[in-house]
Amino acid sequence: MEDAQVVSGVYDVVVVGAGIMGSCTAYEVAKRSRSVMLLEQFDFLHRRGSSHGESRTIRATYPEDYYTAMMQEAFELWEQAQAEAGYMVHTKTCHLDFGPAENKSLHAVISACKKHGVPVEILSSKEVAHRFDVFQLPENWVALRTAKGGVLHASKAVAMFQQLAQKNGAVLRDRTKILRIHPGWRLPSGESGVLVVTGRGAALGRRCILTAGSWTNKIVKELSGFELPIQPLHTTYAYWAIGKDHSDLFSVEKGFPTFACYGQPYIYGSPSLEYPGLVKISLHSGSPCDADTRIVAPDWKPLKEIVSPWIASHMHGKVKHEDPVMAEACIYSMTPDQDFILDFLPVPDAKEHQAGSILVAAGFSGHGFKMGPLIGRVMADLAIFGTSSDIPLEYFTLARFCRHAKGNHKDFEEQVHSLHLMNLTG
Ligand SMILES: Cc1cc2nc3c(=O)[nH]c(=O)nc-3n(C[C@H](O)[C@H](O)[C@H](O)COP(=O)(O)OP(=O)(O)OC[C@H]3O[C@@H](n4cnc5c(N)ncnc54)[C@H](O)[C@@H]3O)c2cc1C
Repeated sequence: MEDAQVVSGVYDVVVVGAGIMGSCTAYEVAKRSRSVMLLEQFDFLHRRGSSHGESRTIRATYPEDYYTAMMQEAFELWEQAQAEAGYMVHTKTCHLDFGPAENKSLHAVISACKKHGVPVEILSSKEVAHRFDVFQLPENWVALRTAKGGVLHASKAVAMFQQLAQKNGAVLRDRTKILRIHPGWRLPSGESGVLVVTGRGAALGRRCILTAGSWTNKIVKELSGFELPIQPLHTTYAYWAIGKDHSDLFSVEKGFPTFACYGQPYIYGSPSLEYPGLVKISLHSGSPCDADTRIVAPDWKPLKEIVSPWIASHMHGKVKHEDPVMAEACIYSMTPDQDFILDFLPVPDAKEHQAGSILVAAGFSGHGFKMGPLIGRVMADLAIFGTSSDIPLEYFTLARFCRHAKGNHKDFEEQVHSLHLMNLTG
């Protein structure tokens, strides 16, 4: 990576924020032989944002069928990037969704799979117990097994896309906070562009893409005066000890799945992979926070009060449920409908030639990692060509919040509930 401290020059695209979304976007721009600079406020691969850690689930199952459709391309793009890098960041295993038989989201997941040709096996609670020998689900529950799933090695994947971006010609700078962005700046070519001012100098770009995760709103507010409907949530993922002699049952080799338990609480987990003898089981929830001032430490209370009893009643005594062995803090960027924002940013009072120079990819609502390479492809297309095909962009516009404050309408339950709505005791 280039060591120079100063930020300068003129680029086709300047990308702000080097989590999974910014790193994939910089790679996709560079792959199209356009000049691109990727800027990160902290050290690359820091642990204060959303993209760090050992694992993220990848699956095609979603209640929103447009995500199921998008995952077909996302799976392919992960394969292509790994082939170019020459190493793997995706460990494959199957995926299991389960919950009460009447759960509307689960029904929507089944319909979405049928609509997009994703093969699904529907299993009763008894069949789940027989197949996996770990889960103990209530009798009136149902499960769906899909073959295509697995674990993405998160920090390694971010590093891979940064490496690929650089290999394709991108300029990368960390410890470089963007202080201001000026649209409508005249470039040496005479075109209108964007001046991006950092603590280490300034760069010009024809386009600027904001992939700043939970900080996006702060940048947008400073830039345009209006607020994006993105609420950062402080969340915690945790690892629990597997009971004596049961480790094998939780391995990828033995076919242990990544899993999601729909309903309240929404619990997710993945095979024993990154740490021997431990399995990751966490709660899909969090508490509202400020990305700059939050204390970056695990929140043990929901683990003790929600995840621990869930493990005790759903995992057949195969996991030591009393206390997690380790945990780490992370952050979600929630939109009201839990759908992404992928759009051009309206800048008030902008003249016509200034419109469309700043784009935003944010609000990934705790489920975006698996789509990082696809988001990179779409944002590069939007920045370079002004449009992108094979993606239902209408679900990801800012305008949806003007039509309805809640955004896209859904006929099923939300997946993520803020902790203060979950009646935590104590
Ligand atoms: C605990 C947890 C579990 C999850 N599980 C899954 C899962 O199983 N599957 C899945 O698909 N998704 C999952 N997600 C969601 C997924 O990880 C996120 O959607 C994704 O990482 C968001 O990436 P991002 O690039 O938008 O944000 P970030 O990774 O936060 O990146 C934004 C970057 O912008 C930088 N930045 C901000 N402001 C500035 C500035 N002014 N100047 C320069 N740089 C700036 C930040 O420092 C940061 O590095 C999970 C998330 C968490 C927290």
